[in-house]
Amino acid sequence: MSDPASDLPFFYGSISRAEAEECLKLAGMADGLFLLRQCLRSLGGYVLSLVWNLQFHHYSVEKQLNGTYCIAGGKPHCGPAELCEYYSKDPDGLVSTLRKPCLRPPETAVRAGVFESLRDNMLREYVRQTWHLEGEAMEQAIINQAPQLEKLIATTAHEKMPWYHGKIDRQEGERRLYSGAQPDGKFLVRDREESGTFALSMMYGKTTYHYQILHDKSGKYSMPEGTKFDTIWQLVEYLKMKPDGLVTILREPCVNPNYSAAATPSVPGVRRSLQSNGYTPPPKAPEGLGVDRRTLPMDTSVYESPYSDPEALKEKKLFLKRTQLMIDEVELGSGNFGCVKKGVYRMRKKQIDVAIKVLKSENENKAVKDEMMKEAEIMHQLDNPYIVRMIGLCEAENLMLVMEMAAFGPLNKFLSSKKDQISVENVVELMHQVSLGMLYLEENNFVHRDLAARNVLLVNQHYAKISDFGLSKALGADGNYYRARAAGKWPLKWYAPECINFHKFSSKSDVWSFGITMWEAFSFGGKPYKVRPADLGGALRGVPHCGTSTSGTAWGA
Ligand code: ADP
Ligand code: MG
Repeated sequence: MSDPASDLPFFYGSISRAEAEECLKLAGMADGLFLLRQCLRSLGGYVLSLVWNLQFHHYSVEKQLNGTYCIAGGKPHCGPAELCEYYSKDPDGLVSTLRKPCLRPPETAVRAGVFESLRDNMLREYVRQTWHLEGEAMEQAIINQAPQLEKLIATTAHEKMPWYHGKIDRQEGERRLYSGAQPDGKFLVRDREESGTFALSMMYGKTTYHYQILHDKSGKYSMPEGTKFDTIWQLVEYLKMKPDGLVTILREPCVNPNYSAAATPSVPGVRRSLQSNGYTPPPKAPEGLGVDRRTLPMDTSVYESPYSDPEALKEKKLFLKRTQLMIDEVELGSGNFGCVKKGVYRMRKKQIDVAIKVLKSENENKAVKDEMMKEAEIMHQLDNPYIVRMIGLCEAENLMLVMEMAAFGPLNKFLSSKKDQISVENVVELMHQVSLGMLYLEENNFVHRDLAARNVLLVNQHYAKISDFGLSKALGADGNYYRARAAGKWPLKWYAPECINFHKFSSKSDVWSFGITMWEAFSFGGKPYKVRPADLGGALRGVPHCGTSTSGTAWGA
């Protein structure tokens, strides 16, 4: 898999700021001279280095959630090439337009980063273990799966590094640093006692220094008050160039005695035993359920966003033209906002099946309209294979929210109607996908607040997506919970105690709802806490604002 910038003649790959400045100096320091390099901090990002008035200016280009690229405060672009082209015409906040590319000398290749050399192997291993694919099918899956998995895999890449020593204590770290030569800058990274945090131990003047690696709420790693990184190995690479508060820069790795260059990296979510014991595929699902075991999520048209094609992305707008939308009479579902209808949306190159949430026309109630706009605003920011994507909004005879189609409908209904035909492995597979979708939400600081089997929609028997973002909230980068001012019409049976008692919602309370959803799934569409109404009154006594509706959902009002 190549970097989207790899064909640009002014892209240098993984070089440092100092090296970039050196290249620009050699090329003459003309005003508007520029080059592009890989960002060492954020995954998939770049840095644009530009000369103006004999000075260097470095702008970081972030890769956004929806796959677009932008310089902080600037417009989004569908790729690094488009971004550079844009700034070659309009400075739009930069010190100057990009005038003259600083070309990479023909004999120098784009410098690969540490992760690039590992990435392909790790992706291959992940796809082999998760999807049980080999050969051609595996290669195909890697091509499709890679963008989403890269981040997941990058977060465990440090385990493949010689300097990573796993869970050893401070004394053992010191013992390992003191064995053999003790040059300044010899270092190792180890897991600390408290799970999930890391420490860096290093040698300087024959003394060992220990630093805690901070891990903030948004998942970034850093030295105290230092630059923040998406992953541990990026932080280490950076500290090899800049001390960032350490006594000296990192130089020589203290190699883990158990390190082997050929070791299989651990793969998130897959038990190691699967690797060593060999894997037996689950029994094939009965015939007649439409989808063969081999049809994987990435084989479907809704795995990637319809806007993943750069041509389509260029035309992406929040509001869709009514003339491009055909609405069927078929109703897929309904709610108090109105109903969800089937339809087709015509794009430039293709037509896609869509589900359209139509606001009732008599619903002149502004509050309901606002709610739908809020739901759209949340969905607009999300792009993940295990989440129902919004295609756009359409304001015509009614306000309409146009989404990807998940034709097999809600998980609870599907499971209860197909009880005898669905294997437990199949349910595990679907719930694993729901967990991947929820992981994405947590990583990006969203709380769902209405995760339930009724809001997990199926594309087919083996592909689930999370839907219904009507109650969802964005937390902002450093908040970790949302507090509702007052209780609303809430699905109490899916809520953790702190939601009910303190109106406090976080990824942790989403985990609680995931637990209830698991219960629903593994009881093949059963109703949680189903007891006689008389008992229900007793069980929920003391819980404020709760009531039951005829659908079996306990809603608080
Ligand atoms: P509510 O906020 O009223 O719960 P939902 O977003 O859950 O609304 O949608 C209600 C119903 O409409 C769902 O249970 C489902 O049957 C149908 N539906 C919603 N979105 C889709 C979709 N993308 N594809 C297929 N059916 C859908
Ligand atoms: Mg719903």
